[in-house]
Amino acid sequence: MEEEKKNNDPISRKKFLRMCGTAVAGTALLGVSAVALKRLADKEADYFWQIDPKKCTFCGRCETDCVLPISAVKCVHALRVCGYCDLCGGYYRTNVKDLNTAAENMRCPTGAIKRSYVEDPYFEYTIEESICNGCGKCAKGCNSFGNGSLYLQVKQDLCTNCNECKISRVCPSGAIRRVPYAMAYMLKDD
Ligand code: SF4
Ligand code: SF4
Ligand code: SF4
Repeated sequence: MEEEKKNNDPISRKKFLRMCGTAVAGTALLGVSAVALKRLADKEADYFWQIDPKKCTFCGRCETDCVLPISAVKCVHALRVCGYCDLCGGYYRTNVKDLNTAAENMRCPTGAIKRSYVEDPYFEYTIEESICNGCGKCAKGCNSFGNGSLYLQVKQDLCTNCNECKISRVCPSGAIRRVPYAMAYMLKDD
């Protein structure tokens, strides 16, 4: 009898309805949060770390600070910007005496830059990506003494797209930032 009275008590029903309301509101809130988190995750995946070639100063940290054993940053070459120079500032060290391919004349420490004759006095320079370490020495030389056609980019197929790019934390010129994945390269040819 006492139990039946408790169940019919209008105050208890009111409390019950309030509890239901709170639970529904809580579920709705969780639902919204889950959707918001999913959107955030999708948004993160849509973005990719990249180097702004207008800001990079070729400081060398791209070689040493990537989390990968060999940096995901590589030299790329804008052929439309290149002067096809014989005395290439990216290929040869500063003040070389003879324009020959002796190791002591080469600016690239890994031999990743290949030079091929086009016609007098022009030469084409290509980068062997698999042995480039992203040191930026060639790009620095090219930007100091040439047209600036050599520059650095983070390669999509190598980069693990870290939540926070380790290089971006040490880059002295703030050159690394997230860009939409669809336009993940900041090319000088464009
Ligand atoms: S100098 Fe450095 S950045 Fe340029 S091609 Fe050689 S290894 Fe790559
Ligand atoms: S995001 Fe990670 S893997 Fe990619 S360049 Fe930066 S540190 Fe290297
Ligand atoms: S750390 Fe910044 S300034 Fe240095 S080479 Fe990389 S992008 Fe360029």
